[in-house]
Amino acid sequence: MRINRNKCDICGVCVAVCPVDAVSVSEFHVDIDKDKCTECQNCLIACPAKAISSQSFEGINQKESEIDNSPLMGIKKEYDVVVVGAGPGGSVAARFVAENNVSVLLLERDRESGIPVRCAEGISSGGLEQFIDIKPEHISSKITRARLNTPDGNHLEMKSHIKGYILERRIFDADLSDLACEHGATMLTKADVIGLKRLENGKMKVRYRCHDKIREVTCKIVIGADGVESRVGRWAGLKTALDLNDISTSTQYTLSNINVDPELISFYFGNNIAPGGYVWIFPKSKTTANVGIGISGNNAKEKPAQAYLDNFVAQHFPEASISYTVFSGVPIAATLEHIVADNVMLVGDAARHVNPITGGGIKQAMIAGKLAGEMAVQAIRKENYSAKVLKKYQQEWDKALGSKHRFIYKIKEKVLVAGDERLNKIADICKGIPPEKMSLPDLFKAVVKGDPKMVAEMASAFVLSKINV
Ligand SMILES: Cc1cc2nc3c(=O)[nH]c(=O)nc-3n(C[C@H](O)[C@H](O)[C@H](O)COP(=O)(O)OP(=O)(O)OC[C@H]3O[C@@H](n4cnc5c(N)ncnc54)[C@H](O)[C@@H]3O)c2cc1C
Ligand code: SF4
Ligand code: SF4
Repeated sequence: MRINRNKCDICGVCVAVCPVDAVSVSEFHVDIDKDKCTECQNCLIACPAKAISSQSFEGINQKESEIDNSPLMGIKKEYDVVVVGAGPGGSVAARFVAENNVSVLLLERDRESGIPVRCAEGISSGGLEQFIDIKPEHISSKITRARLNTPDGNHLEMKSHIKGYILERRIFDADLSDLACEHGATMLTKADVIGLKRLENGKMKVRYRCHDKIREVTCKIVIGADGVESRVGRWAGLKTALDLNDISTSTQYTLSNINVDPELISFYFGNNIAPGGYVWIFPKSKTTANVGIGISGNNAKEKPAQAYLDNFVAQHFPEASISYTVFSGVPIAATLEHIVADNVMLVGDAARHVNPITGGGIKQAMIAGKLAGEMAVQAIRKENYSAKVLKKYQQEWDKALGSKHRFIYKIKEKVLVAGDERLNKIADICKGIPPEKMSLPDLFKAVVKGDPKMVAEMASAFVLSKINV
């Protein structure tokens, strides 16, 4: 396998789908370890930027320089907790550790948290206050309605039950990590974590590259909040590789010079539009919007996500200018079977905490971050960082969202991937419900009433989700 660095957007999808941990991502480039690679082609298929080809390797295995033990301004040699990744999950985890007077270092590979933005930035407003006081600068637009466009040109509209925001994640994410620091966390950016080691004294060594030097820090607990490309879990021996079916390979344009309703989010479904996924339009103002597509990895074999998006944009927004492009991936899987190991907990995209149908993961990562941060504090106080103790975090996550996600995942597998006919039928069944009465529970009830086969599928999905607890 060979990576074309001019095309690569450093999104990490290839890391997520590599079954043998042969791919690593740094701030500036992606490397494939030719000794580990089995040439399975998962990365080539899933890469949204089509930056990987099946040509043979160049010399990619640089030797690491010696560990630099000189002091780094403001950074201690040892912390109780090290959090890897300052996305919403990592920043919230660090904040809930720090506010309990437990020492925590937050390591982030990029120059600042929140940049680059690889997200459509949609979030429902409920429950946000436990993580941050929402300020006007966090919000681009307030959403009051959602429209689902089915393959046959019908649409369903939901009003008033949907209250949400399109965020400015650049500002939102930065404020979340600032909040962690205000509560006492130490944050180091441009710190790319490259490995973990469990020490004989029961502590962990975290190795990271910062300003071209390799450094190490010791801690008792590592929280891996390192996103879809997570390697912390792999280093801790957890199974994190995603099947191609469980990754949504995505491309998003921020379009300007368009006309959109700033209160309405829209989704478009259909095999010709986005096979195994959908196109979204999330308005940032009356004239700008995040317009993106996610298709399941398996469907990207024939045609990349970007080609479908280009067709859509040409048809719906022929006059638009593209001000920002991102390639990325969303793990549309159920939560990993194990999200803890001795001394290690995974949070957010790293643990596959995203809602498997909607692809929403911001609030999910923050909920998990809070639970993991609180668990870390308890474990530090007990002086026991074993998987047995940390397992309580996994149970808390299951209670909060994990079990629900397993059910949603089964529905995704059994129902939504079924294709255009089924989606058209759902729209037909729900046609009579007025928008102001349309809520997700109403929609669900109407579908169940109008399609007995779906009832059976949902019931079996429910049973399967329970069996897998
Ligand atoms: C195209 C797209 C659209 C989306 N739209 C939405 C949406 O509208 N609403 C929604 O709720 N969710 C959406 N999501 C999902 C959402 O963006 C993620 O679920 C969310 O960001 C997860 O937060 P996190 O903290 O787990 O990970 P991330 O936000 O990915 O943060 C991980 C951080 O870890 C850092 N990192 C990684 N590896 C290392 C390392 N080795 N060393 C140090 N740092 C490291 C990264 O630089 C990054 O800052 C979308 C995702 C995509 C790709
Ligand atoms: S070809 Fe397969 S084994 Fe090799 S790097 Fe890509 S995903 Fe990993
Ligand atoms: S999947 Fe993402 S990180 Fe990997 S080669 Fe493609 S663009 Fe680069």
